[in-house]
Amino acid sequence: MNIKKGDIIKVISGDDKNHDGKVIKVLPGGEKILAQGVNMVWKHMKRSSNYPHGARIQKESPINISNVKLVCPNCNKPTRVSFVKQPDGVKNRTCKKCKQAITA
Ligand SMILES: [Zn+2]
Repeated sequence: MNIKKGDIIKVISGDDKNHDGKVIKVLPGGEKILAQGVNMVWKHMKRSSNYPHGARIQKESPINISNVKLVCPNCNKPTRVSFVKQPDGVKNRTCKKCKQAITA
């Protein structure tokens, strides 16, 4: 699992190809994520206290992580990451393009 909440991702396949967005949530299991503005679907809300007249709202739907790439905050390129173990045992994600640690 190399994508975390708060990361910026770029969609590499599907309808939203080339869109990017911030990861809002990683779903349990770690195979799907929700990212801001990515994979938007219309949802029909039933009448409730929040939507007294019902509503049609656009909402993000989960996208498989195999369809996205992490955008490196250092070099701003979609990249793969490798894990580099530090002397203290903590694994840092490292960008394969610029070789810098991704600490965000
Ligand atoms: Zn980089």
